[in-house]
Amino acid sequence: SKPRVAVVFGGRSSEHAVSCVTAGSVLRALDRDKYDVVPIGITTDGRWVLERDEPERLVIQAGRLPEVDEKGTAVVLANDDERGLVCLDPAAGPTALGRIDVVFPVLHGPFGEDGTLQGLLEMAGVRYVGAGVLASAVAMDKHYAKLILQANGFPVAPYTVITRRAWETDRAACQEAVDSLGYPVFVKPARGGSSIGITKVRQRADLPEAVEEARRYDPKVVVEAAVLNAREIECGVLESLDGGRPEASVVAEICYDTEYEFYDFQAKYLDDETHVDLRLPADLEPSVAQEVQDMAIRAFEALSVEGLARVDFFLREDGTLLLNEINTMPGFTPYSMFPRMWAASGLDYPSLVDRLVQLALRRPLGLR
Ligand code: ADP
Ligand code: MG
Ligand code: MG
Repeated sequence: SKPRVAVVFGGRSSEHAVSCVTAGSVLRALDRDKYDVVPIGITTDGRWVLERDEPERLVIQAGRLPEVDEKGTAVVLANDDERGLVCLDPAAGPTALGRIDVVFPVLHGPFGEDGTLQGLLEMAGVRYVGAGVLASAVAMDKHYAKLILQANGFPVAPYTVITRRAWETDRAACQEAVDSLGYPVFVKPARGGSSIGITKVRQRADLPEAVEEARRYDPKVVVEAAVLNAREIECGVLESLDGGRPEASVVAEICYDTEYEFYDFQAKYLDDETHVDLRLPADLEPSVAQEVQDMAIRAFEALSVEGLARVDFFLREDGTLLLNEINTMPGFTPYSMFPRMWAASGLDYPSLVDRLVQLALRRPLGLR
């Protein structure tokens, strides 16, 4: 029988709607001759529900953002020795949904991209697309990601961490640590994405407000020295099907109008390409592009990422690279950077989706 793929989407993070749009694209792209598909939504308050298989509903229509339909049948996940993951419909009983062979977590941010869902699936003995527990958690946390990257010799921007306790009990020490970075700085929720909660701070006096803004999303805050006049460069990485070295995509550059302070939420999602220009491939010396691809693959391996990742860099005026971040579930609509980088590398969207499911199906269960 055909492998059954559960596409899990929505979720509790601030990126719920983005996730729904992506799920619509993934549902459309999955080859129904090859796979049985089970759409499962997670509502904004964390309930799991069986969704109708209607990708056409999961689009932005007349400015209205899609969300998970709460009225779907509630599902709970239970471990079943024989059949792996079973979705229990409390009304219909334990075999209502049957075996799931692969979960495709189309979720961004905390409780989805950060290892928590991955841990649940590991416990239940179910294969899933993308990075495992540790890699997901490390990549999501800008503090720990830097520690691991630095320990592996990758250049990162100077930074300091403001924990909840430090901010609440020793404000002066926090202020001093930030001052010593020099201004401007970028203030970020440690575990965030889509630029949500990030502020560029030009002077000391504006720090507290920016830290409070970041703390709306995460009690832990990372403050980074601004990398000035840098170009923003991105590279996609995919695990190889034969277990060999991961593969890097064509390298891309993001260019945006100088009216933007930085690549913020507005620039990422709300404005069109008259303001934001995704250059594919980036106009780079071949040796620089190759260095980006090589670093992207090495970073993927340093964090033991599986499946996919988008690795983001700053290219400074002197030609040196800094590694900004690794996203283990990057934006994934057909218009997003990651699929576009792969399309430009010869792998179209349906093939990319298929490759990720195939990688997950081949993965051994248990410790890898
Ligand atoms: P997210 O995970 O939300 O995408 P990033 O760390 O990538 O967070 O920051 C979002 C954007 O903010 C970057 O794409 C860049 O435009 C800007 N930015 C972040 N950190 C710096 C920095 N240290 N120097 C210059 N720009 C930065
Ligand atoms: Mg990110
Ligand atoms: Mg980013």
